[in-house]
Amino acid sequence: MEINGKTKLIGVVGWPIEHSLSPRMHNAAFAAAGLDYVYLPLPVQPDKLKDAAAGLKSLGFVGVNVTIPHKVAIMQYLDHIDRSAQMVGAVNTIVMQDGTASGYNTDAEGFIRSLQAHNITCAGKKAVLLGAGGAARAIICGLIDHAIDKIVIGARDARKADGLAGLFRDYCNIYAYDWQQESFTRETENCDLLIHCTPLGMFPNIAAEPPVNWLRVNHGAVVCDLIYNPPRTRFLEQAALRNHIIINGKGMLVEQGAVAFQLWTGQSAPREIMYSVLD
Ligand code: NAP
Repeated sequence: MEINGKTKLIGVVGWPIEHSLSPRMHNAAFAAAGLDYVYLPLPVQPDKLKDAAAGLKSLGFVGVNVTIPHKVAIMQYLDHIDRSAQMVGAVNTIVMQDGTASGYNTDAEGFIRSLQAHNITCAGKKAVLLGAGGAARAIICGLIDHAIDKIVIGARDARKADGLAGLFRDYCNIYAYDWQQESFTRETENCDLLIHCTPLGMFPNIAAEPPVNWLRVNHGAVVCDLIYNPPRTRFLEQAALRNHIIINGKGMLVEQGAVAFQLWTGQSAPREIMYSVLD
């Protein structure tokens, strides 16, 4: 569709932004849905975020994605923060309507939908997370919203893991460990989901992997990695060798985008197209 004066503007704000796959994914989705929208990469230096937030309003953008390093800092410039973003403590999607900017977080729901696409449910189950950063926090919110029974966080820095767990103790059974501890390994023996939430193994450092004693991991556990490049990290390779069901981060990327697409357009996203352009 040709860009014209009526074309609705959407973008992704980040720094750097040139490697983002979101413009390709969303422009393909808008075209497939026959919608007159365009999705632009918007490189914004950290010290220019306030100006950029005002500029997006002045320029009439109707929606924005927000990515590293702005997901937390952007919150102070918004008029309304949805519960999804309050829980995660970060905004990845903004809807602009009638001069009001509302912040949402679609990562948690995106992750849960990526599990559902494999017919995996969370209710009553036990999840073990590796890593205690922003993505881990989003995953925890999604798991709690979908009635997980118990969450265990393992990280290289036990204090960070414990700080993260402390935010959610009112909502579920949640425990934190140094991931090198024997007591952490013991927690993997009866987990239903093992979810990797660090950048270890992401391109170009594909030889890296988190410390997991695979001989002790429950054989029936579903193993997820939030990384999508490469599609099979060393971590997922190890899991596949032991016949675990494996799920990489592509589904989360597509599904968080599909939730954002619906917030902006009011229509359900053409998810198959979004999956296929990423291939
Ligand atoms: P983050 O906030 O920076 O947190 C990263 C976590 O990994 C922290 O716990 C950090 O520990 C740990 N970590 C980093 N480098 C490490 C290393 N060399 N050894 C051990 N631990 C290390 O990042 P994030 O936003 O949570 O993202 C984590 C991963 O999820 C990234 O690979 C990202 O691409 C992926 N992700 C994917 C999607 C998707 O849609 N598929 C969405 C969001 C994120 P310290 O705190 O001790 O540094």
